Formats: sequence, C-alpha cells, structure tokens
Amino acid sequence: MSNLPESMHRAVGAARTEVWRLHAALVDNGLVAWTAGNVSARVRGTDGCPDLMVIKPSGVGYADLTPESMVVCDLGGARADGAYLPSSDTSAHCYVYRHMPGVGGVVHTHSSYATAWAARGEAIPCVITAMADEFGGEIPVGPFALIGGDEIGRGIVATLTGHRSPAVLMRNHGVFTIGATPASAVKAAVMCEDAARTVHLARVLGEPQPLPADQVDALHRRYTTEYGQR
Ligand SMILES: [Zn+2]
Repeated sequence: MSNLPESMHRAVGAARTEVWRLHAALVDNGLVAWTAGNVSARVRGTDGCPDLMVIKPSGVGYADLTPESMVVCDLGGARADGAYLPSSDTSAHCYVYRHMPGVGGVVHTHSSYATAWAARGEAIPCVITAMADEFGGEIPVGPFALIGGDEIGRGIVATLTGHRSPAVLMRNHGVFTIGATPASAVKAAVMCEDAARTVHLARVLGEPQPLPADQVDALHRRYTTEYGQR
C-alpha cells in the first residue's frame, strides 16, 4: 500500500496488529470453532484518504493468523491490500461501517449459547444486572439473512440503530457486536455469550425474574458514566 499517506500507513499497520491479537481473544474466550468468527477494525481516513477496514482472511485458522495475513479493504468491500481474500462476512462488516459512523469495530461469532437463542429467534431478556450494565436491556434478535450481500448488514443496522445493546442475535445464525473500538466489540461478544449462558441456566432451572425498567436504566447509566478507572 505504498500509495497511502504515511499517517494511514501507520494506522493500518497498528490495526493489523490489534485485529490479529483480538482474534486470539475470541479463541481464549471459547467463542469460536474452527474458522467461524471474525473481528474487524475501521481505520479512519486522514490526509484525503477514505476510511479503510482491516479484517480476518477467509478460511485461515486462528493459529495461522499473523498481522501481515490480515486483509485491508475499502468500505465497499474491495481488497486494498493483503495476500488473502477477506472474510466471507466482509460485506456485513462494511455495511455497518458505512451506515454507523460511530462504530470502530465489528465482531461476528457463532458462540454456542448466544447462537442457541438466535436459533429459537428469542431475545435474551434482561434478568441480571450485568446485562443491564453492558446491554442496557435485552439483547435483541435481528432478521434471518443470507450471507454474501448487504442483507446481513442491513439487519444488523436496522436492529441496533437507536438500541442500547451493542449485540444482536441474527436469527438462525449467530452474534454480531459493534463497538467504538474493536476491543469494545470483542468485549460485547464475550459478555453476550456469558449472559446467554447464565440466562439459559436460569431458564432451565425455573422462570427468570425480569429487572424493573427503572433499575435497568439506573444500572446502565451508572455503568456507562461512573464505573471503572476515569
Ligand atoms: Zn456467521
């Protein structure tokens, strides 16, 4: 990518390393089997260069990934740099970046418990404080959509626009999460699977008790404005 301005060249290099590292987090957290899951990062355009995206190469095992093997695409999904073809979910990631300008990272997994909710087409109800914190309510279900075109991306954007949840359960498919950064999208994917597992166990053992809406609001407000190191 010798035609990129130096600032973009550096930013793409940093994104390659970050996206490579975050794929290891998908494995470490048990969110993926074989090659089915991917992380991408938006690289914001500078010096007249449009935004780009860094994403996993298609069909390459996690153990074989390197920063150099990550694929750079424009937001139309065309490969701009990289030896491999990009993930088969590239068009969905691109659609999200084109239509949600605040999104800096997108993650897709078929993590078991969350995908079991998606297979039933059932939103995960907000019945634990950790869900109120992270998702601000239920984790919603998006439409069934076939891979390849804009259909999945359209479903993600339609479901998550104006919703507090950074995660959507795409019907009969799996999880897509968004974040201001790729790391925050990975965190949402980890927390989504954790919530899906806990609420599943609660459902198996009895009837989970919903949290009152005002408590959900208060928890979410505290978590997003006061929690952690500031
Ligand atoms: Zn998938």
